[in-house]
This record gives sequence, structure tokens and C-alpha cells, in this order.
Amino acid sequence: MRPVLLAVDGDPSELRAVERELRDRYNSGYSVHCTRSADEAVAFLERLSEGGEEVALVLVAQSLPATTGGGLLERVRQLHPHAKRGLLISLGAWAEASTGEAIVDAMALGRIDHYVPRPAASPDEVFHQAVSSFLLEWTTDRRTVPHTVHIVGEQWTGRAYELREVFERCAVPHAFCLAETDQGRELVAKAGPGARLPLMVLPDGRALSDPSNAELAEAAGAPVDLEEHSFDIVIVGSGPAGLSAAVTAASEGLRTLVVDEGGIGGQARSSSRIRNYLGFPKGVSGGRVAEQAYEQASIFGASFLFMHRAVALDRLGDLLELELSDGRRITARAVILATGARYRRLGIPSLEALNGAGVFYGGPVSEAHALSGKDAYVLGGGNSAGQAALHLARHARRVTLVVRGQSLDAGMSHYLVREIEATNNVKVYTGTTVTDGGGAGRLQRLLLRHSSTGEEENVAADALFVMIGARPHTGWLPSEIAKDDRGLLFTGQEIPHASDWRLERPPLPLETSMPSVLAAGEVRHGSVKRVASAVGEGSIATQLVRSLLPVLTASVAR
Ligand SMILES: Cc1cc2nc3c(=O)[nH]c(=O)nc-3n(C[C@H](O)[C@H](O)[C@H](O)COP(=O)(O)OP(=O)(O)OC[C@H]3O[C@@H](n4cnc5c(N)ncnc54)[C@H](O)[C@@H]3O)c2cc1C
Repeated sequence: MRPVLLAVDGDPSELRAVERELRDRYNSGYSVHCTRSADEAVAFLERLSEGGEEVALVLVAQSLPATTGGGLLERVRQLHPHAKRGLLISLGAWAEASTGEAIVDAMALGRIDHYVPRPAASPDEVFHQAVSSFLLEWTTDRRTVPHTVHIVGEQWTGRAYELREVFERCAVPHAFCLAETDQGRELVAKAGPGARLPLMVLPDGRALSDPSNAELAEAAGAPVDLEEHSFDIVIVGSGPAGLSAAVTAASEGLRTLVVDEGGIGGQARSSSRIRNYLGFPKGVSGGRVAEQAYEQASIFGASFLFMHRAVALDRLGDLLELELSDGRRITARAVILATGARYRRLGIPSLEALNGAGVFYGGPVSEAHALSGKDAYVLGGGNSAGQAALHLARHARRVTLVVRGQSLDAGMSHYLVREIEATNNVKVYTGTTVTDGGGAGRLQRLLLRHSSTGEEENVAADALFVMIGARPHTGWLPSEIAKDDRGLLFTGQEIPHASDWRLERPPLPLETSMPSVLAAGEVRHGSVKRVASAVGEGSIATQLVRSLLPVLTASVAR
């Protein structure tokens, strides 16, 4: 059955134009339906929901009376939580301040995903660009893009979870199914006689039985023959700061290697919609930014080494030497540390034992679709926890945000607080902590403690996403690199003691106390914890390295 595209517009000639554009372009892959009546649209959506049919996109004209249009959009969210919802606006209406405000409000309250200009000509490529971006997002969310890797496992946990996590971190679209399902049986049969679980089926049809991390690294990114290369710059970390450094360095002709213990995107990877990043008025997922940046850096010639952790850094004459977790060593003329931060652990043994089996650290991008009709909990009071709760609310039956502080406003942006308040299936517990939990092989219950009353409450829970603040991973760096008491790296003028700096020239603004080793993004003391800031610092760090390279060999140690 083809997924449905539905358009609702009370103006007959405008509706005809929308219908013509949708049918001309999408008829072969989608089933197009158009109506002038919001009531008819709701009845149609109810029938589709009862029949288990998928709705990819619903376009609703802004000119419909606010109550009718708003009510319809709300019903779409309830009946078809995965469907993208666009507000059809007239050309030129955007110039009116009231239209802008209405759109921003509708987005802030989670009523629409974004606006689509009504078609003004045929074909109207601006209209089609908006529609196809919605459809790309929908197919990516539903894991039906052609480059999806399929993973078949006996259970959700264990190695099958590790495989999903690796692909999630490498920004590779992946879908998981249990071996006992029809799809699981079909994939195993196609893989042939010797297939073993967990099984990974690549988009080109190749199947790998219980693959090793090395095989995964190869499947997820271009492998690098380190012995064959020498590098001008090695970047540790491929979050926004590292990716930006890589794009700038490779585009300037520097021989560039990026090493990451996971895949691309860092923390940004777990952000389902970044709304405050320059140039993306409709918002963009962290995964998408990361994928595009990876492609951009690769095209300029940067090399990537995934699933390799940097474990030591040393000086070797004029060069720097980085040791990797597999024992290999890489030399470079300069190093940029872009290792960001990782979520703090809960430290509750019963819940640590269920990591990957209902308890997850970080955002719910890859697990959300498996939580349809289930109860999810998010622990944390920052923007990332707020975003996670809203993203989950589109899939889960009920989402509970558990916040230790007494109010949401203390740690969360105002627009997120408003959206959470306006989302029916998100409940907020302030002044509350998670103290215990458990389940048979998978999370089934949590114990909450409400601090104001001292009461404890046992709740049924299918998933817990822990987002309680992040810590830098800088313990592996040499003592020569000065850190603050949280382990963040001092750079430039902030290097506290003159004695930490060995050269005659002063340190560059993003340079650590180890000459030619720079830091960018969240790992840096005093950084702003935003994607845009990390991207800016990555680019600046590379420019600084560039200014440094000609004089590196001439530097005289005191
Ligand atoms: C759920 C969520 C939502 C967010 N939403 C927004 C938002 O809407 N807008 C916004 O501006 N910001 C948002 N942020 C914050 C933003 O993602 C971060 O500020 C940004 O990712 C920091 O980038 P970074 O490159 O400095 O570090 P990170 O993103 O933390 O990346 C660091 C990378 O280094 C790697 N690494 C670490 N140690 C090693 C090692 N020893 N060897 C090899 N690799 C290593 C890690 O695997 C990781 O890939 C969000 C964060 C989260 C978690």
C-alpha cells in the first residue's frame, strides 16, 4: 500500500493547483488525496488509522479557520504521529508579520513541522523542494531510505544493540527486526545457509554474520591505510567541531585525518531537530548536519577512522604522535582535540545492568520508533532532555520528563518549555529523581523519589533516556595539557600558569598548553555549548593551525 499524501484547502482553485502538483510528481510512489473539508479529512485519516495505513504528509491551508485547521492538525498528530504536517501559505503572505508569528507559534507548539508555499506555477520547484524535504525526513524516520542497513537479532539487547548503536553513531540509517518476525526470517533466508545472528544486511545485499567491530568500521566508513599516509593535521573527535575543522583543513589542502571512537556527529547526532543553526529555518536533525559535513570533508579529501579511540598523545621531535586503542600510532604536525563531552552515568547498578535494554544514554533518535504505544521516561532538565521528550512524544504513548530541579525554566529554553506544556502526552515531574529500577532482561519499572514529600513511587516504564549533564573525556591526555577542575582544556590566554607554556611566542587563542595541540568545541574551558559555536571553533582552530604550520619546525623550545 502506498503511503498517503493529503492536502486540505478550502479554496477550490488553490486546492486544484496543489492536487495537480502532487499527482504529477508523486502519484507513482504515494496515494494523493485532496479535500476542501477538514471534517472529511479527519474521517479519512481515522479510516486510514483503523486500517493501519501510513500517512506521510498532511498539508493544511493556513486560510482554513484557525479552529478547524488547528483541530485537524491536532488530530493528525494523534492518529498518525509519524506523518509530517505542513501549513500551506499563499505566496507573499510570508511578508506579513502576522503570518510569520502564526508559523513560529504553530511550530513552537508542535502543531506543524513547517510551512509550504502554495504552488504559484506548474511545475513549482519551490513547492516541490518543500514537499520532498518532508518526504526525505519521513522516509529517514521510517528507516525506508534505500541506503538502510538491516540488522536481524534474536533479541533487542546484547550484540544486536551494540550494532544498532554503532550505526546510529556513524549516521548510517539502520533498521532492526527480530529474527522471529516475517521480515527477520526473510532476511535470514536471503543471507543463505551459514547465516548467524546477529545478522547485518548491507544495502548492496551483502550479509555479514555476527560482524566484528573492524568489519563494522569498514562498512560504516572509508577505511584508511595509516602506514601509507602522513598527516598535517589529526583531528580527534568528529562531532560538529571536528567535522568543521576537517572541512576547513581539507579544503585548504592540508592532509587531514579525523579519528573518532564512534562515528560521526558526536552529541549533535542525538538531536532530532536543531532549530537554532544558521541557514535552516525549518530546523535540521543533527544527523543530517553530520552526514552532509562528512560528505563535504570527504570530497575535499579528509580521511576518517571510525571506532578508534585516541588513548595517548606525545611529542616526537617536531611532530606529535597519537596512539590509538588498537596500538597503532599516527604522526601529525598539529592536532585538534574536539572530543566534546559524554553523558554522565547514573551509577545505579540495577539500571546500569539494563544499559541498551531499555536504559539509554543520550537522545532517543534510533530507539524512538520502537516505542510506539509504550511509556518512556527522560531524566534531565536541560534543552537536550526537552528535545528528547518532544521527539519521543511523537512515538510513545506517554512520556514523563523527570527533573531534579523545582522548575523546568531553570535549565531549558523558553520555546521548549512552551512546547512541552502544549504537548498532551508529555508529563513533567519536577523535584524528582530516579533511584532504582529493573525488569526481566529489559527495563520494566522505575522507582521515583519526589523530594518535596519524600515519597517513593513505583512506575511501569519501557524506556529511560538519561540526559543528566555531560563530562569531558580528557583523562587520556598528557599532564602537559592544562585542564580545569572538571577536566576541560585551557586554551590561549586562559592557560593559567606561565610555566605551563614552553615557547617564546604566546599561545594561539585555541592552542592548549602543549604547543601545536589545539582544542575546539565543548572540550574547551569556557566554550558555548551549541552546534554553531563548535562549528565556528573547529574552523578557527584549523585556520590557526594553518598560520602555525610554516613555523612549526622553526619553533625553539625554551
Ligand atoms: C540531545 C541533544 C540535543 C542538542 N540540541 C542542540 C540544539 O538544538 N542546538 C545546539 O546548538 N546544540 C544542541 N546540542 C548541543 C550540541 O550537540 C553540542 O554542543 C555539540 O555537539 C558539541 O560539539 P563538539 O564537536 O564539541 O563535541 P561532541 O558533539 O561531544 O563530539 C565529540 C566527539 O569526540 C569523540 N571522542 C571523544 N573522545 C574521543 C577519543 N579519546 N578518541 C576518539 N574520539 C573521541 C566522540 O565519540 C564524539 O563523536 C544538543 C546536544 C544533545 C545531546
